[in-house]
Amino acid sequence: MPGCPECETDLNIDVDEVEEGDVIICEECGTEFEVVGVDPLELARVEEGIEEEDDLLAEDEEE
Ligand SMILES: [Zn+2]
Repeated sequence: MPGCPECETDLNIDVDEVEEGDVIICEECGTEFEVVGVDPLELARVEEGIEEEDDLLAEDEEE
């Protein structure tokens, strides 16, 4: 059973209930991990700071 690489808390992942692409959040430190493989179970930390492209929704009322 893999632990959180950040705080070493047991993530309690049930390998039968996760699949590739699932995101698991460490309840202890809040770090997000993406499941990149299930056999064996492999996690990749989800990088923060990825900006969403929401600039299009910015106020821009041209007339
Ligand atoms: Zn953690």
